[in-house]
Amino acid sequence: MKCELCGNEHNVSNFKVEPKEEYVNLCEECKKQIESGKLDENHFQCLNDSMWSEKSAVKVLTYRLLKAFGRSDLIDMMYLEPEEEAWANSEIEIKKDAYGNVLKNGDNVMVIKDLNVKGANNIKRGEVFKNIRLGDTPGHILAKNIYIKTEFIKKV
Ligand SMILES: [Zn+2]
Repeated sequence: MKCELCGNEHNVSNFKVEPKEEYVNLCEECKKQIESGKLDENHFQCLNDSMWSEKSAVKVLTYRLLKAFGRSDLIDMMYLEPEEEAWANSEIEIKKDAYGNVLKNGDNVMVIKDLNVKGANNIKRGEVFKNIRLGDTPGHILAKNIYIKTEFIKKV
């Protein structure tokens, strides 16, 4: 499997292009830079090629990266369907725990406060939830089908 941005074959895995359930295959390096937000423009020269991809998720991710680099010259040359453009420009909320750590799908978190949950057992401080989902509700994550405010959790 090849990285759909740079073509590297090292440690390629799926990367979700939020907020849709669509994925791009990314190498370890591309993924690390995108997830950390520390983007090296030299590495991403590959966007010159990936911008011509026919796969929507690749185009959308490429568009966002070009935007981050301020390359409106290249963005202007891209052809995106209206729904691809809307997807590329949709706001993605970065969710953080009470200490400012960025949360991702699959993280494990500990609750730092006793919480009352409507229609379910209360959650005790110190309780750990594994494999959380970010979900669609602003300011909350999804743990075992319960939405919990991000300010009440700590990544563990
Ligand atoms: Zn790559």
